Amino acid sequence: MLDRSNDLTAWDRDHFFHPSTHMAAHARGELPTRVMEGGEGVYIVDRDGRRSLDAFAGLYCVNVGYGRREIADAIAEQAYKLPYYHAYVGHGTEPSIRLAKMIIDRAPAGMSRVYFGLSGSDANETNIKLIWYYNNVRGRPEKKKIISRWRGYHGSGVMTGSLTGLAGFHNAFDLPRPPVLHTEMPYYFRREDRSLSEEAFAQFCADKLEEMILAEGPETVAAFIGEPVLGTGGIVPPPQGYWEKIQAVLAKYEILFIADEVITGFGRLGSMFGAHHYGLKPDFITIAKGLTSAYAPLSGVIVAEHVWRVLEEGSDKLGPIGHGWTYSSHPLCAAAGVANLELIDKLGLIANTREVGAYFRQALAQAVADHPNVGEVRGEGLLAAVELVADKADRQFFAPEQKVGPRVVAAMLERGVIARAMPQGDIIGFAPPLCLTREEADIIVGATKDALTAVAATL
Ligand code: PLP
Repeated sequence: MLDRSNDLTAWDRDHFFHPSTHMAAHARGELPTRVMEGGEGVYIVDRDGRRSLDAFAGLYCVNVGYGRREIADAIAEQAYKLPYYHAYVGHGTEPSIRLAKMIIDRAPAGMSRVYFGLSGSDANETNIKLIWYYNNVRGRPEKKKIISRWRGYHGSGVMTGSLTGLAGFHNAFDLPRPPVLHTEMPYYFRREDRSLSEEAFAQFCADKLEEMILAEGPETVAAFIGEPVLGTGGIVPPPQGYWEKIQAVLAKYEILFIADEVITGFGRLGSMFGAHHYGLKPDFITIAKGLTSAYAPLSGVIVAEHVWRVLEEGSDKLGPIGHGWTYSSHPLCAAAGVANLELIDKLGLIANTREVGAYFRQALAQAVADHPNVGEVRGEGLLAAVELVADKADRQFFAPEQKVGPRVVAAMLERGVIARAMPQGDIIGFAPPLCLTREEADIIVGATKDALTAVAATL
């Protein structure tokens, strides 16, 4: 029944077009409207005063936690001084220039320039345009195809929705569109041939990629995009040896590598970048989320020096690059970025992620791995997932209509903890703020175990 006793609830249902939401259920009042109002540390409070431990940091982005005055003050100060000026034709503001320098200081060797956008999606759109431009400037106009992976998540624009390898982001949108192709997902738990070791499965993924490149013609394949750890596709760390084998194939056919570090950048794995964590040598790195801990919307594309040189050559041939947005490198967002990166260093959040992340994942595994409906507990740093199964021995999954994952997550919320029911499969996702303590980790683990027991009893 539609609750009209309250203006905000009614306005929300009548006028607010929510992203990633069952529109009809929301309009009919079957989805509760939860209006968030405040937060402190890992906790968030709604306007009814209900406090929850946010074990997903919003959408894996509030990495420093809620209520950080340092970032709010930096945004306010910049707003008073100069709220906006564009970055076209060589203009800039101090925070955007300073932030570019801070990012390059933290990035893997060989990276030299940062282009700023506002979302992970638009940053990946920028990547694809730059890669096409690069190959045109180099006189290889046929080298344009982009290989992504099933279950990869790279955004939900036309191009980035195509890169995303999840059916829910394609259905009825006429996506994916060429020239995007999808190769094998590095998802060991869901491998078809269960006799394969991790290493053999990694080789299988690399062989599949090479087969695709050869079938398409290496002269037509421009780039490969991948998240260091599959994120929205299920929070899946790569099988042993995967990145080494994949990078060898890319190098063999001169295929550029975009490391999409929107989730993993700035500490989530317990390393500054996933590239450091797995020894990646990307030509482009996509960043967003943890860049500002979502205190203001900001993304970026980090470009390798050798790519930059070709882009410079392009300007000499073609004139100024025809790419940019009004809000590229918005000074308020850049000020948030500077304050956020300073705070990550000051609080030692990357070391905390390594230490508390290891504790959390071990405690989670200890609490639920033996449950008959838990197929796998996995993760890296402060990213973790519990994958549910109907039958452990046979690796049988539940029917999606049973909504087992969403029911466990709802039961966790009743116990005061926000986790995420990942969109494809019954997978409970965790990505808490990087300031998580052991005591808070215990609370998440306790709620997960209790919720799982409660829901399993009804199956
Ligand atoms: N890339 C990755 C790896 C992501 O996880 C996301 C969002 O979750 C995106 C890109 C898209 O970012 P945005 O939602 O800011 O457009």
